[in-house]
Amino acid sequence: YKKLRLILGDQLNRNHSWFQEKDSSILHVLMEVKTETDYVWHHIQKACAFFAAMEDFAKTLNADGFDTIYLKLDDEDNQQSFSKNIIHLIKKFEIEVFQYQMPDEYRLDQELNGLCDGLTITYKCFDTEHFYTSRNELGDFFAGKKSLLMESFYRAMRLKHNILINNGDDPEGDKWNFDTENRKKLPKGHKPNAPLLFDNDVRKPHQRLVAAKIRTIGSIEPEYLQWPINRKQSLGLLDYFCKNCLHLFGTFQDAMHTDEWSLYHSRLSFSMNTKIISPMEVVKAAITFWRNNKKTVALNQVEGFVRQILGWREYMRGVYWMKMPEFENLNYFNHTEKLPDWYWTGKTDMNCLKHSINQSLNYAYAHHIQRLMVTGNFALLAGINPDEVDFWYLSIYIDAIQWVEITNTRGMSQYADGGIVGSKPYTASANYINKMSNYCEHCKYDKNDKIGENSCPFNSLYWNFHDQHREKLQRNPRLSMVYRLWDKMNPELKSKVLSRADYYLKNLETL
Ligand code: FAD
Ligand code: SF4
Repeated sequence: YKKLRLILGDQLNRNHSWFQEKDSSILHVLMEVKTETDYVWHHIQKACAFFAAMEDFAKTLNADGFDTIYLKLDDEDNQQSFSKNIIHLIKKFEIEVFQYQMPDEYRLDQELNGLCDGLTITYKCFDTEHFYTSRNELGDFFAGKKSLLMESFYRAMRLKHNILINNGDDPEGDKWNFDTENRKKLPKGHKPNAPLLFDNDVRKPHQRLVAAKIRTIGSIEPEYLQWPINRKQSLGLLDYFCKNCLHLFGTFQDAMHTDEWSLYHSRLSFSMNTKIISPMEVVKAAITFWRNNKKTVALNQVEGFVRQILGWREYMRGVYWMKMPEFENLNYFNHTEKLPDWYWTGKTDMNCLKHSINQSLNYAYAHHIQRLMVTGNFALLAGINPDEVDFWYLSIYIDAIQWVEITNTRGMSQYADGGIVGSKPYTASANYINKMSNYCEHCKYDKNDKIGENSCPFNSLYWNFHDQHREKLQRNPRLSMVYRLWDKMNPELKSKVLSRADYYLKNLETL
């Protein structure tokens, strides 16, 4: 072989131009390495899904005539890091040219830059041909601007890519945003369609992880990995989503329920983040389905979905490349608390957290509002160190890759960036959680109380957070109402609220 091409675990893009023409002088390589398995405690389903999807991709490439080697975790030849393996393979096959695709994680970008700097052969980096936007497009878009408003970026992307646009510049339905029609609670007795699950047998990769004593979390039945691991399954899930979930996606996008873990969500994040399918394919499928089924699928549902992918997903990637590596260390509120152990076990009496965490441990999945308004909200109100919060989110979710995890966690959810991603911290008391879920109905704590022994911890912690960070937040116009209410509260009640919060903060592990 003359050329060696590295394919990372999140670069499983069969439609990449690398695979348009066969060339027998090219060797491709995918590898399972300990530098990747050990940087957080990956959920066991996440680790197995990555290995299974990578191996499946290697098999597909070989079957299609693109020579590919797949280094397993326990292969004798495996040096357990990308750089070491590449150097070894270059020698072994007397490679003349090394090629790779632009990594989406800063850590790997640095590693591969370093590797290439040290090579004596030529090398070349290619685009991944996955996103709508290039790495620096968002940075250029917001150059010289103070705030990075997602909405303005999203509208520009709609126009640029002509998505849900009429006559060149009008938004479909004459509105850019249909949020007011969305975000309802699940009505009593409403049963969403069952999620489409797969039964991929991942016993072999599971055994390799166990034998190598890789530290993981969560549960798995290795013969039934429910996540899609290849194009056929991912396209099947996309089709299922359009037919069974899209019609109520927007309506119930923020709803939470003790009996439902996936509701009307697409669960396509793993397939997209590994690049098995592209955001364009997903957006196009949803819009085509809507166009052909306008009687059953309304515009607000499809716009809500498109906004997540063309808007938020591209936006987060752009913010990541604009703000890394500084972003990784931002801690606007100087929060230093340790994450309570029950985040790893689900053993808490707070019903909303118990459900959201146990669901995450069982399925490697929670939907956006569970991540933002339950686990994230609590961590923020409790003053947890964002490093610990990031570590948890990066570990537990099937779709957790740093570019999209850290911008959501440290940025949107913890406001540790001081307002780059969000215009105010996402905080809420029991009132919001009760409005969007049935969690409070079965909880040990009282959603209506903020001072008593059984008062919902969110209530006192909410006021305590705003009181503590007054200096940093009170000038935010979006919070003026909060401070007005707090200032109007009877001083005796205020002091009781703060002392209840103090008690909870000192006893986080016991909640
Ligand atoms: P759906 O609700 O069906 O949405 C469709 C798609 O839109 C998703 O697959 C995803 O690609 C995209 N999307 C939706 N919201 C966002 C968002 N805020 N940012 C980027 N893309 C979005 N998403 C990840 O992919 N990886 C993560 O590690 C991750 N960590 C998060 C951490 C926190 C604290 C929060 C609040 C959100 C995080 N998200 C992350 C965003 C979002 O929660 C997930 O993308 C979504 O829940 C995935 O499930 P789904 O595919 O069913 O999404
Ligand atoms: Fe969560 Fe409080 Fe509601 Fe219990 S009462 S479920 S802790 S919000």
